[in-house]
Amino acid sequence: MSEGGRPSIVVVGAGPVGMTAALGLAGQGVPVTVLEAGADLATETRASTFHPPSLGIMRELGIVDELIEMGIKAPGFQYRGYNRQLIAHLDMSVLEQDTDYPYRLHCEQSKLTHLIRRHLEHSPNVTLRFGAEVERVEIGTGAARVFLAGDGFEPSYTAGWVLGADGANSAVRRSLGVAFEGITYPERFLVISTTHDFCDDIPDLAPVNYVYDPADWGVLLRTPSHWRALFPIDPGQSSEEVLDPDHIQARLQGLVTLPEPYPVVHSTVYALHQRVAATFGLGQVLLLGDAAHINNPLGGMGMNSGIQDAHAAVQALLYAMAGGDPKRAVETYARVRRDAAMLDVQKSSHRNYEQMREADARQREAVRANIVETANDPRRARAYLRVTSMLASFETSQRRMRRGLTPVRGAAQQPAGQRLSDALRDWSLPRQDDTGPLTAAVLAAAEVPSCSDDLAALTAGARVPVVAAVAAGADVAAAVARFERANVSAIEVAGASSTRAAIAARNDLLVIATVDASGAGPSSVGKAAAELAEAGADVIALTGPANGALLEAVHRAVPHVPLATTAGSDVLPEPLGLILAGVGLLLDRSAALSATGAVPSAS
Ligand SMILES: Cc1cc2nc3c(=O)[nH]c(=O)nc-3n(C[C@H](O)[C@H](O)[C@H](O)COP(=O)(O)OP(=O)(O)OC[C@H]3O[C@@H](n4cnc5c(N)ncnc54)[C@H](O)[C@@H]3O)c2cc1C
Repeated sequence: MSEGGRPSIVVVGAGPVGMTAALGLAGQGVPVTVLEAGADLATETRASTFHPPSLGIMRELGIVDELIEMGIKAPGFQYRGYNRQLIAHLDMSVLEQDTDYPYRLHCEQSKLTHLIRRHLEHSPNVTLRFGAEVERVEIGTGAARVFLAGDGFEPSYTAGWVLGADGANSAVRRSLGVAFEGITYPERFLVISTTHDFCDDIPDLAPVNYVYDPADWGVLLRTPSHWRALFPIDPGQSSEEVLDPDHIQARLQGLVTLPEPYPVVHSTVYALHQRVAATFGLGQVLLLGDAAHINNPLGGMGMNSGIQDAHAAVQALLYAMAGGDPKRAVETYARVRRDAAMLDVQKSSHRNYEQMREADARQREAVRANIVETANDPRRARAYLRVTSMLASFETSQRRMRRGLTPVRGAAQQPAGQRLSDALRDWSLPRQDDTGPLTAAVLAAAEVPSCSDDLAALTAGARVPVVAAVAAGADVAAAVARFERANVSAIEVAGASSTRAAIAARNDLLVIATVDASGAGPSSVGKAAAELAEAGADVIALTGPANGALLEAVHRAVPHVPLATTAGSDVLPEPLGLILAGVGLLLDRSAALSATGAVPSAS
């Protein structure tokens, strides 16, 4: 179970996701065994689009240049309508400030797995075993047991960690009894690869084209060696009918009419599902890639989100192997990556599907007008492309992984000041503020469901930690979940019961409890602060006028809890400065980021 003092790691499945995880671990010197059921790496034609975050991950793994070399760059994509007329061109160069890779790379997924294998061959700690079909995995105390087909009662491997990357029909997921709920679309997809060059027929054709033709919607995409056309097929048609050469020619001729038959090199039919595993982590097992979530291929997000899973899973395992709480590692990975699957990938891919098959003429016109306006406005185009290129989702996920793996409360319950500095460590702060008190952005939180989207946009752009306040009477647990998802760094609540509710619901948010000092004497404010500290507040913030006597009284009442005041630092007399030294956080409402326009007011 342990190799060189480190728990052994078994990766199940040598698809793009399992191989990415294996290379990530091997690159950190972690021994890893990859078990693959197939006799060799798969060569089938599936994913071919790499979004910018995946290229960033490949750079971290040291293979991005070789991958780019094998693919073609798509610096933009197009929406086309009836008769393939151009609706809009989305130019990805507006993402230059967001990524070093402002394009999609088209390269078959099998090229990635073969490239990774070549790199793994140089790693002495990696075992890559083919013809090794995992039948089931059992969770034990401190280790998981991996049974290969035919093992009987004795497992072939006892592993400290198992990464289940064995695809949509995952034996790992099924053997753990994890539900895989969702829907199956009525349509299946026909994918045809042809060596015919559509650039000869359609002027200024981009390497990716979404065709919004109600009678014949689909995708036309260029790979390094072919063009691929993806069409929905009628639920009433059998695969045999659909794959009949005459039918294939008819579909292609419907796309662009040619005087001769199309040269077809490959065709296949896929069923389409939107499904997400009930949990991505159980005991010592993490689920990743298609084993954890599947979605329709419109937007090219399945493999890309799986690569992001692999990246996050490696982070979680490295944290646990460095002495971090293993339970926290699993919970953080599972929560953050499941949220990304549910709230980003499933949502975006399903929206793409709904929009492309929209039959209502008015709705279609609205979608079309929106696309045109977006393409013509660089600010809107950037926001839109940050979503379609999965940058927004990846950044959110990464911030949440970092915060989740930086405990607010360690198992040893270190002093509150220490907890606070831990929590602050990964907050991105403006350079010029490094030596001064921190300025927090304070928001009046609105109890509206859409607020997390607006907040996410704000937190993504904010250069300081964003603190959100829960409105009086709000459902604190729901607000905590929403704010965590929106990347808020801390939550401000008033009253001991709200504090308790926030503490119970939070995973990685700092909880700041406020005491109103207006008109109250030092001892009653100190008593209120002690009650909040007892409820588990991480920081006590005093609102209203604060003087030295008051702050000293509160500090004496809660000596281990950092204090913050909402007064500006310039009005703080000594010894307040002394008391605040080491606090590390000053809520400075005078310099607060205004949320006006970003978040609708609670009223
Ligand atoms: C037509 C089509 C086009 C697509 N295009 C894109 C795209 O452009 N971009 C994108 O991001 N995604 C795309 N996808 C989705 C993408 O192909 C998948 O999300 C991706 O392959 C998932 O990778 P994975 O490693 O999780 O699983 P897989 O690629 O399925 O790999 C799983 C591996 O596990 C092995 N295995 C299975 N069971 C066992 C077992 N019991 N024991 C051991 N090994 C086992 C399998 O042999 C396989 O090698 C597309 C999908 C389709 C169908």
